[in-house]
Amino acid sequence: MTMTKKTFLSSENYYGNEANWQYMSVSQYKRFLECPALAIAELNGWESKADKTALYVGNYVHSFFESSEVHEKFKEDNKDIMFSSRKPFGLLKAYQVAEDMIQALNHQQAFKTLYKGEKEHIVQGELFGADWKGKIDCLNVKEGYFVDIKTHAGDFKKKVWNDRYGMRVSWIADYGYYLQMAVYRELLRMEFNKDFTPIIAAVSKQSPPAFKLYELREDMMAFELEELERSLPSILQMKYGQEEPKHCGSCEYCRETMQVTEFSDTEE
Ligand SMILES: [Zn+2]
Repeated sequence: MTMTKKTFLSSENYYGNEANWQYMSVSQYKRFLECPALAIAELNGWESKADKTALYVGNYVHSFFESSEVHEKFKEDNKDIMFSSRKPFGLLKAYQVAEDMIQALNHQQAFKTLYKGEKEHIVQGELFGADWKGKIDCLNVKEGYFVDIKTHAGDFKKKVWNDRYGMRVSWIADYGYYLQMAVYRELLRMEFNKDFTPIIAAVSKQSPPAFKLYELREDMMAFELEELERSLPSILQMKYGQEEPKHCGSCEYCRETMQVTEFSDTEE
């Protein structure tokens, strides 16, 4: 695909295919790290058949804090998947949990005080040789900070092994949220010519939900940006067809499409 004139991003075209080809995003980059063949297939229209409930639950919570109009529209557009088709036709359990998370966030004075500013602010800019796009949940330019809401299925304290870090890390680091917030901060710095403090407002799917406000460690954001700078050139080569995309061999796309041509080592 040839690069055409850069598209000015809006809420209408942000998630569109053209924007995804022209711009790198943190989620697209994470896809390339996971499996380049999968990332390319998605850019070409391949769709996962995996259950998307967690994604919808996250969007349900996010839309509530964006505005009541957006939330009502989200509910109307997705009522077929959110409500039971059997009597008593109530909200499915996953979305009742989403309601609990909304209540939990609303109950926290610190969150309500902090979550003021422009909602769904779109950032775009050049970083490490690629054009990037990002969407920030809540940006407070005057006070110099931004907040992202993260919903999490498990216990906040549980550490998990992460290959990139080579150690057990928090769910925040494991999901690439350090990377995301570091990239957003760089893009905001270019746009406003000042430094912003990233904040994560985390809410769990436990009953009742746990809530935490996280500040982010500078050393971990620096690590993510260094790694990004190192890995991005070969990812861009694969994206724009100068290099064959590698298959991870185990994701949904690879399982669906790959022919096995060699023996595997049991311990790898
Ligand atoms: Zn794969």
